[in-house]
Amino acid sequence: MDEFSFINSIKQISYKQPSLVKGIGDDAAVFRSEKDIVTAVDTFVEGIHFSRETMSPFQTGYRALAANISDLAAMGARPAFYLVSVVISKTWTLKEVEEIFSGMKELARYDHMDLIGGDTVSGSELSISITVIGLVEKGMARFRHTAQPGDHVFVTGTLGDARAGLHILTDKTSSYINSSYFVKRHQMPSPRSTFAVSLAGIDRITLNDVSDGIGNEANEIAEASDVTITLYDETIPVSDDFQQFPPSFQQEWKYFGGEDFELLGTVAEENWDALARIANDTGTQLTKIGFVSEAEKEPSVYVIKDNRKTRLDKNGYTHLK
Ligand code: ADP
Ligand code: MG
Repeated sequence: MDEFSFINSIKQISYKQPSLVKGIGDDAAVFRSEKDIVTAVDTFVEGIHFSRETMSPFQTGYRALAANISDLAAMGARPAFYLVSVVISKTWTLKEVEEIFSGMKELARYDHMDLIGGDTVSGSELSISITVIGLVEKGMARFRHTAQPGDHVFVTGTLGDARAGLHILTDKTSSYINSSYFVKRHQMPSPRSTFAVSLAGIDRITLNDVSDGIGNEANEIAEASDVTITLYDETIPVSDDFQQFPPSFQQEWKYFGGEDFELLGTVAEENWDALARIANDTGTQLTKIGFVSEAEKEPSVYVIKDNRKTRLDKNGYTHLK
């Protein structure tokens, strides 16, 4: 198969987005918009961001697009388009690369996204770079810098599951309860787009997606907003069978496991009920896990566990207070 027939094989027969003027097949794609345009790019390199041992080509594509859609969700944007630049190495057949695109297509269908362009080249290792484009009502993009003292801190879903799934895939020495659930959370995560775009009626909400773990994401919000965030350890949501893992793993994974692609955010007290209603209407698990207060000397994140307050840094815990 040559490049031309490869592009033909990944090309959509029809497009879903009404704002698209020109998709694949010209020098560039064209769409029009009266909304604010939100865009992000992420690159996945074999051996660094994914491995054939723990993921099929289909899952690799699915997960790569999911990570990008999660960034759009964290901005409150509705997913619309994606472009894929792929570097194909000799160790991959075009059939397998097509499978990667099928994985992306599967998730794109669910989110009404169109593949509108990309680039195809050969190189020494497989790498996939995905650019996503989302749309949001003018002035309604959600940021990290808008948290205010008095806000509630919330998170969607459960944390640590994706890391647990990776553990199950790589640790062949034990068997686990409900392993398919955890493995799926790693291989085919579900970004929170529906929930994120449903928040449109709330005028101020701070969002960040959980790609590295809430230890990291909470610090990003605290820094960007110049506030202190305090979390209650016992409220951090984990799934039912999470306690089968060693306690030290549980503790590490729920704060630093990452790749759950849930949303961490803050909202004013007066908007909590509206937020809870939206979560309920969209079938989204929502948990209040802490509060925002004024930054003391510097923006920071604390965890309260067994009546002890510990500072939670981006890379782990530090000195006890
Ligand atoms: P050009 O030489 O103008 O860059 P290409 O031959 O690279 O054109 O691409 C032809 C068309 O196919 C363009 O619309 C381009 O966006 C699309 N395309 C190429 N590679 C990919 C890919 N990996 N994914 C999606 N679209 C692609
Ligand atoms: Mg090109």
